[in-house]
Amino acid sequence: MRQKLVAGNWKMHLSTDEARDLARSIVESIDNTTPEVLLCPSFTLISAIKDEVEDSPVFLGAQNLFWEPKGAFTGEISAEMILDAGCTHVIIGHSERRQYFGETDASVQRKTATALQAGLIPIVCVGETLEEREEGQTSVVINRQVSGALERFKPEDIRKLVIAYEPVWAIGTGRTATPETAQEVHQLIRAWLIDHSGKEIAETVRILYGGSVKPDNAETLFSQVDIDGGLVGGASLKAEAFSAIIKAAR
Ligand code: PEP
Repeated sequence: MRQKLVAGNWKMHLSTDEARDLARSIVESIDNTTPEVLLCPSFTLISAIKDEVEDSPVFLGAQNLFWEPKGAFTGEISAEMILDAGCTHVIIGHSERRQYFGETDASVQRKTATALQAGLIPIVCVGETLEEREEGQTSVVINRQVSGALERFKPEDIRKLVIAYEPVWAIGTGRTATPETAQEVHQLIRAWLIDHSGKEIAETVRILYGGSVKPDNAETLFSQVDIDGGLVGGASLKAEAFSAIIKAAR
């Protein structure tokens, strides 16, 4: 059985003091019955949060990386730097990166390859826009994004990654996909994985749902067969809400 994973994407929020307090509260709220928990603060907060999660089961992740190992790339950060800072995971291809920073399936593929090579666990994000959903293009878009990002990897690499389905229309909007709608897409992604890597590997890959996950909808979302936890934005910035979402994944 796949262990559930609940990841908090803190995006471009929080001062160091606020972030430390939040991480401390989350660490205090978890026990050995909780699923895997991952915090993804902004780069400047990583070292402070590392201190807070040090002796706990909470994992630390970055929100982006660049594929070059070093050099004159002002403003970028490499996989080695992320590892060196104490992270185990990295979010790749979040829809905000696709929308505002020109990321494409090709750049997502390259970043995922870099993360895997460095030993970081990539959380590869895919999701359709509202327009694409309304035009009946959801499965075409998801298949294109998943293939574009992952097709070139061998099954043993596919085994190492996490996928996040995040319908763009549900991110930060308060509009959540119904559990059935989300499950349909997760099942589609699982089918792609089976086709690409075989059933045994496909069954081990965690597919997270993201898009306005809240304490009151988390349990029904996480109870769907192919939903293996959540990538949580807004609600991960509040200790009480995020702890409740973690509990819902038990
Ligand atoms: C996200 O940023 O990945 C996200 C899902 O945000 P929110 O939970 O706020 O919709």
